[in-house]
Amino acid sequence: MGGSGVSPCDLDREFAPQIAQLLATPPLQSAQEYYDELIRSKKHDGIRVSYSSKHGKGVCANRDFAEEDLILKDQMVVGAQHSLNKIDCVVCSYCFCFIGSIEFQIGRRLYLQSIGASIDSTSERHCHGSDVGSSTGCSGSTNGNSNDVPQGVVMSLMDGDTSLPFTDQFRLPSVVACPGGCEGELYCSQSCADSDWDSYHSLLCTGSKTEPLRRSALQKFVQHANGTNDIFLVAAKAITFTLLRYKKLKRQPASHESSFSLLMEAWKPLSMGFKKRWWECVALPEDIDSSEEDSFRQQMRDLAFESLQLLKDAIFDPECAPLFSLDVYGHIIGMFELNNLDLVVASPVEDYFIHIDDLPESEKEEVEKVTGLFLDALGEDYSVPCEGTAFFPLQSCMNHSCCPNARAFKRDEDKDGHAVILALKPISKGEEITISYIDEDLSYEERQAQLADYGFTCACSKCQEERPI
Ligand SMILES: [Zn+2]
Ligand SMILES: [Zn+2]
Ligand SMILES: [Zn+2]
Repeated sequence: MGGSGVSPCDLDREFAPQIAQLLATPPLQSAQEYYDELIRSKKHDGIRVSYSSKHGKGVCANRDFAEEDLILKDQMVVGAQHSLNKIDCVVCSYCFCFIGSIEFQIGRRLYLQSIGASIDSTSERHCHGSDVGSSTGCSGSTNGNSNDVPQGVVMSLMDGDTSLPFTDQFRLPSVVACPGGCEGELYCSQSCADSDWDSYHSLLCTGSKTEPLRRSALQKFVQHANGTNDIFLVAAKAITFTLLRYKKLKRQPASHESSFSLLMEAWKPLSMGFKKRWWECVALPEDIDSSEEDSFRQQMRDLAFESLQLLKDAIFDPECAPLFSLDVYGHIIGMFELNNLDLVVASPVEDYFIHIDDLPESEKEEVEKVTGLFLDALGEDYSVPCEGTAFFPLQSCMNHSCCPNARAFKRDEDKDGHAVILALKPISKGEEITISYIDEDLSYEERQAQLADYGFTCACSKCQEERPI
């Protein structure tokens, strides 16, 4: 266990051979079939995933692309909005588009700011200092002055009784509640609610339809994650995704396969994404001396184990026991930690205030008499986007280059949680598509240091030119 001593997890020992199979690199042919089928089913006919002995897995153009062409809109396998970001943005928990209305988005945020909300009413609001081992920022905004807006006005915005000028040009889908009755998850449509329920949420819902013992166990797990690192929440979704796929495969009448081979099949979409265990790849915080690195990594491992115990109390399934091992949990969290593309969806509240600001002077003055109060109350973070962590199956196959020919970029029309990849320059059929995992304008040394976290030394043409001799 990478210098961290013997694993505290019994399952790691009991199921060592099965865990080794779950974490093994999938055989080439099986991986190739998986990607071919994924590309076919999602109609991404502009690309193909291919393997070379030199670079391993990569994505190639299957046709010519001009500069700025859309190459791919990649749907995540698993993802989640950051807990603190839920204060700033109300989005569909399945497709991550903004929901309700501009008034609802503004009203709810001012309301939560005014009560100093944490996302979980029973735990303190955690921010920088206590977000242990997390590489993700904290956007819970506190610099607005929501006290200036009377509570009654805030409430009427949230309830839809007050409408602001021009918001009819920024319509959002109405809010659909979780079918299990929890308050944590909201949706843009019944189909998103149902898909989320079937794919992940039915095992994680803390609503009234969940059996009380399981519900209280789930609440403890969620509280622990919100108090330490919300990356555990997305890891839990990856586990329920696999469990629910396993159950679906098992129900198929034609299935005569062993439980373990069904689990391997259920696990396949995630098996393509592993790199390292979380506690081995998480960046060492700047205030921790390198002599304390080992004990820091052991602490992270123990924290993950704590989280895993709470999750097991809630949803352990003996048929899928290896899935609940610390080794597998560590690899799942590590996969999200080393993700080179976060979930980001731009805020329509930002678009709205930009629209107001762009009105002709005469009109703007009148409108701002109404909207100015809210803009001031929201503070400078009024434009915070939806932010989270996700695993994108095809984007994650794209190799890095410091002089990439493509980039991840959300256009105005990209209003949900898909990853969008655009061509940066003309790309010909057969050419490899590359993106930059880091800021490619950094110096050679800084780039190599950051890429070391991903486990490789970059030998792109820019690096070959700049490499000191
Ligand atoms: Zn949706
Ligand atoms: Zn629910
Ligand atoms: Zn490079």
